[in-house]
Amino acid sequence: MSKSVIEYLENSAVMFPEKIAVADDKSSMTYKELLCYSKNIAAALLPYVKQGQAVPVYMEKSCMALAAFLSIATAGCFYVLLDPSYPIDRINSIIHTLDANMMIVDEKSAKKQEKLGFEGNVLKIEELIQYTASKEEYTHLEKIREQALDIDPLYAIFTSGSTGVPKGVIVNHRSVIDFIDCFTNQFGISSDDVIGNQAPFDFDVSVKDIYSSLKCGATIQIIPKSLFSFPAILLDYLDNNHVTTLIWAVSALCIVTRLNGFDYKKPSNINKVIFSGEVMPIKHLNLWRAAYPNAMFVNVYGPTEITCNCTYYIVDRAFELDETLPIGKPFPNERVFLLDEKDELITQQDCHKIGEICVSGTSVTLGYYNNKEKTSEAFVQNPLNDKYIEIIYRTGDLGYYNEKKELCFSSRKDFQIKHNGHRIELGEIDAAINAADGVARACCIYDEKKQLIIGFYEGESDKKAITHALLAKLPKFMLPQEFVKVDTMPVTKNGKIDRKQLMEKYNEK
Ligand code: AMP
Repeated sequence: MSKSVIEYLENSAVMFPEKIAVADDKSSMTYKELLCYSKNIAAALLPYVKQGQAVPVYMEKSCMALAAFLSIATAGCFYVLLDPSYPIDRINSIIHTLDANMMIVDEKSAKKQEKLGFEGNVLKIEELIQYTASKEEYTHLEKIREQALDIDPLYAIFTSGSTGVPKGVIVNHRSVIDFIDCFTNQFGISSDDVIGNQAPFDFDVSVKDIYSSLKCGATIQIIPKSLFSFPAILLDYLDNNHVTTLIWAVSALCIVTRLNGFDYKKPSNINKVIFSGEVMPIKHLNLWRAAYPNAMFVNVYGPTEITCNCTYYIVDRAFELDETLPIGKPFPNERVFLLDEKDELITQQDCHKIGEICVSGTSVTLGYYNNKEKTSEAFVQNPLNDKYIEIIYRTGDLGYYNEKKELCFSSRKDFQIKHNGHRIELGEIDAAINAADGVARACCIYDEKKQLIIGFYEGESDKKAITHALLAKLPKFMLPQEFVKVDTMPVTKNGKIDRKQLMEKYNEK
């Protein structure tokens, strides 16, 4: 039984030593090299780390970033990718939550990193990679492995938090191993595959690329973020690198079809398209299926908190534009069920009855790092089980069973949205606007049809000043595209901001 994801790397390095494990637009590493770098960097980290601690990796996705991740895991710690394009305040808030005392950077991000004012040790990957471990250090690493448990954390991924502070979902080896075993078996991923990585390394979609590939001895081809603005170059890149498998966010697949990419070219090796993150528009799905009639298309669903995905639907029929694409059925060894408002079970016979999607199993993660309050709100005892401990994750997503007893996604219970593929708590934007000078009260609403975040506010400030204040706190993708100044915020009978009225006023404009 695998206890650590490092076994994936070790096994593939034995089976396919000279095969390319990972490539980006500038470099590549074979399995043998990746294993060797992981061990040597891990040895270089030993004087700086204690097992179980967080090691932030402040760099863009690359072969080096993957080597850093695997070395951190080899040293018995967990990694957290920090995106250098994020505002300093946000990065520092994450570092504070992690209580991190060291960090790995690359040459390219070092200048930006200096601006963080971080007082711990900062190690450069270009220097770490030169290190050669001693015999004693190898023995030390082996000991770390012997003592490690599969419930030890592997990574944390920070998502938007409704109170204004990002939440770090902390995930252990067991959850990843159990999920990746099912995921690769279910969709037939093998050593013949080249997985075209779209997702940033601080999104858990990338966890599927990385560990499916390492497990199966496939190749991860990291696609530069910039290519997603140029479909023709993107499609050339997929074709030239013989990419077979796309495990992409819905928004990324839609970029190709929205800009009529297939009129230019259909990369010839694609045979699996696995998508997630939000509802896949049927129009775009149909264009993809028409381009690849023999490929497997799968809608996978789930939040970061349950390790990537908990349900899947292999598209096996044609869908009309007004039909709902199911999210399907649970992966093996995951329990996915619906609870109604009274926490009673909704069964598959209760066709179209809406309830909250809840998940149980080893894929349920360890909660939010250093945040007991938020953890205890969503990671709770299964209300259907009062006999022994069974922690479930309440996703906040609403779903129902269709006539074919397939699970379908309906909407959210709260004010979490997906905007251009990013998971955002509107409450986090509200908190940032509320903190800006010249704002008395604020509330954001998402116009799904127009895909606009609209910031309503009371106060003497204006769009320019508020945007300036927000840029110091929030990543660009969280900025409202429109601001509306109101004289007084409309409120409901129980004193909450009346979003319906705000939207009505906005639509009347
Ligand atoms: P994230 O944690 O960033 O993966 O976002 C998880 C959220 O994205 C879920 O809670 C859902 O609201 C939404 N989501 C993920 N996959 C799907 C899907 N296949 N269909 C509809 N919504 C999805």
